[in-house]
Amino acid sequence: MKRLLPTSTAGSLPKPSWLAESEQLWSPWKLQDDQLIEGKQDALRVSLQEQQQAGIDIVSDGEQTRQHFVTTFIEHLSGVDFEKRETVRIRDRYEASVPTVTGPVSRPTSVFVEDAKFLRSQTDQPIKWALPGPMTMVDTLYDDHYKSRKELAWEFAKILNQEAKELEAVGIDIIQFDEPAFNVFFDEVNEWGISCLEKAIEGLNCETVVHICYGYGIKANTDWKKSLGSEWRQYEEVFPKLQKSNIEIISLECHNSRVPIELLELIRGKKVMVGAIDVASNTVETPEEVAATLREALQYVDADRLYPCTNCGMAPLSREVAQGKLNALRAGAQIVRRELLA
Ligand code: ZN
Repeated sequence: MKRLLPTSTAGSLPKPSWLAESEQLWSPWKLQDDQLIEGKQDALRVSLQEQQQAGIDIVSDGEQTRQHFVTTFIEHLSGVDFEKRETVRIRDRYEASVPTVTGPVSRPTSVFVEDAKFLRSQTDQPIKWALPGPMTMVDTLYDDHYKSRKELAWEFAKILNQEAKELEAVGIDIIQFDEPAFNVFFDEVNEWGISCLEKAIEGLNCETVVHICYGYGIKANTDWKKSLGSEWRQYEEVFPKLQKSNIEIISLECHNSRVPIELLELIRGKKVMVGAIDVASNTVETPEEVAATLREALQYVDADRLYPCTNCGMAPLSREVAQGKLNALRAGAQIVRRELLA
C-alpha cells in the first residue's frame, strides 16, 4: 500500500434484510437455490459499495456469501459429519453443539474462489480475503478421528494453504486468517498454533494477516470480557513468537478494550491492523476518538506499518451503525494522516 494509514475492516459486515435475518450471527438465509446465489452476489456488490462510499482503502466481500466465518468453510470439506453432533466448549467460553470429524479431512473443491473472482471483477482496489485459522477451526469441532488438536490443525493448515494459493491466483492482495482462539490457548499457540499458520501461508506471495480479537459483540464474548479483569494481557503471551513468525500483518482489538497499548512494543517491526472501532457497541465513534486510538498505537507502530481497522467483524450490527462506524474510521484516519504529513 502506497497510501499512508490505509483503512480496512476485520471482516464481516451486516447483510441486507432481504438476504438474511438482520443483526444476528448464524442468520438463516431468506432465499434458496439460484435466487440465493444471485442474492449473495448482489449483497456482495452492495457491501462493496458501502465500503467504497465510506472511503475504505482495502475492501472485502463483507463475508456476504458466508453464514459464519468458520462453519461455512468447514461445510465444504470432507471428513466432517454435520449430522453427527457433540457438545463441546468453544474457546473455553460457551457450550455449543458442533459437527464431528469422522475421517481424514480434505478439500474436494475450492471454497471461496468463485466469490473472490466475482469481487475482483467488481473493483480495482486492494482486496483482503478472510479465512478461518487452523486453531480456531479445530476449536469448533469434535474430533473423533485424529484425536489430536495439533494433528487436525496441521491438516487444516494444508487445506487452507491450497485455498489461499487459489485466492492469490485470482487476484486477492491480502489473505487474513482469523484466530480468535489465539487469545485463549497460549501454550498451544506457542507449541503448534503459529507453525500451523506458517504452513497455511507457505509459498504465498501476497500479504498475510493473522486477526486475533476478543470476538464479536455477542453476549458470550462480552460476559467473558467482564471476567478478564482491568488489564487484558492475553496478547502478551503470543506476541513474542508471532513477532518472529513469517506472518506479515497482525490485526488486533484496541479501541474500547482493556488491552494495554504498550503490548504493541512486543511486535515492533510488524505491520499492525489497529482496531480503532468497537464492534460490541452501537455507539458510533467520533473521528476524534478513532484518531486518539491511532495516535496511541503510533507510539509503538511505525506510521508506514499502521493499518487502521475495526476490532472485529460487524455482522451483528445494524447496517446504519456499521456504515457510521466505517465513516468514522475513514475520518479518524484522515485526521492522523494530515498530522503525519504536516
Ligand atoms: Zn475478530
